[in-house]
Amino acid sequence: MNAAVAVFDVNRIRKDFPILHQTVHGKPLVYLDNAATSQKPQAVIDAISHFYATDCSNIHRGVHQLSERSTRNYEEARIKIQQFIHAADPREIIFVRGTTEGINLVAQTYGRANVGPGDEIVISALEHHSNIVPWQILSEEKGAALRVAPINDRGEILLDEYESLLSQRTRLVSIAHISNALGTINPVRRMVELAHRRGIPVLLDGAQAAPHMKVDVQEIGCDFYVFSGHKLYGPTGIGVLYGKASLLDEMPPFQGGGDMISSVTFEKTTYNTLPYKFEAGTPNIEGTIGLAAAIDYVNRLGLDSIAAYEAELLEYGTEKLSRVPQLRLVGTAREKAAVLSFVIDGVHPHDVGTILDHQGIAVRTGHHCAQPVMDRFGVPATTRASLAFYNTREEIDALVAGIGKVKEIFG
Ligand code: PLP
Repeated sequence: MNAAVAVFDVNRIRKDFPILHQTVHGKPLVYLDNAATSQKPQAVIDAISHFYATDCSNIHRGVHQLSERSTRNYEEARIKIQQFIHAADPREIIFVRGTTEGINLVAQTYGRANVGPGDEIVISALEHHSNIVPWQILSEEKGAALRVAPINDRGEILLDEYESLLSQRTRLVSIAHISNALGTINPVRRMVELAHRRGIPVLLDGAQAAPHMKVDVQEIGCDFYVFSGHKLYGPTGIGVLYGKASLLDEMPPFQGGGDMISSVTFEKTTYNTLPYKFEAGTPNIEGTIGLAAAIDYVNRLGLDSIAAYEAELLEYGTEKLSRVPQLRLVGTAREKAAVLSFVIDGVHPHDVGTILDHQGIAVRTGHHCAQPVMDRFGVPATTRASLAFYNTREEIDALVAGIGKVKEIFG
């Protein structure tokens, strides 16, 4: 066990998450659906509740105390996020509803302005639907085409094939940092480098990466990076789009309305500066405050310690599940994080999920909004156990015992 894991006191950490201490169907809850959404520490719940109890007011518009406080908290959250992903400037942090909205924003602004007939957008075979459909909508509108970098049987992107897709027609690469269905950690730095050599900008879908590893957007070199607050122990309805200021400055606005304008007449509207140009209407103020509290919490634990602890847990789970007869892990990349997707011969994943639920174990079953990944592996669905830093080896043991029950029932 390495030093980072040794100092990670999971039993103390679990006390910070009130929701974990309940029974489901009379059994202690084992929450293994963290890739869908993760649970919130008391500090996040308190920060949101404090906002409504003491500071609630709209931002940027009032001269009164409460509005000033709300505005300060909102802008401090932006700076916290800038530091969290090591962006060069807070103007490069745009608040959105989540990863999906962040990708749609880029597709509808950068994409519409820069993609034309015959152009191409490169994605990969392991993308979440949120990183497929916005590009299809854009491609259909513009007469452009989607090109898909294939993956091998482990669920790793074939880099040579990826590189061969990059051409003078490519307008953008959009790739997951970590796959939600398989857990693959993609070699994003290298992929960005290969695209940049040809002058192609890169968007990274960081929905599954931001909660599990240190992200440094300047070191990776990507042009856009998106993630969701609710997977990072923060509230739902808040997410982040990072974009290089030089690109964001050139992009047309996404939505029109309050705060994104500089001046309005019936003849012409001029737009606000960054980041407000992309933040039309009253934003999710409580969301930004909750997300800032989540980032404080995660920073206190340290992302390196979190990654080391989760890697150890993943290894333990992989080893245990590999020993279960008739169980096949789907996604066995050499660089992998926090996801155990599997199928059991002769049992539909929905039945697996239901039987596990009756034992208090929450997992996700289905296509995980990644139907092309399921097609690639020739399965209609998988059962997915996804880990967080508050999970334990005992919970993995409970999962394995639960699978034993499934097999008992299905003979
Ligand atoms: N991309 C990936 C890799 C995801 O895992 C998810 C959510 O599961 C999304 C995008 C969409 O995130 P959201 O629903 O928060 O917009």
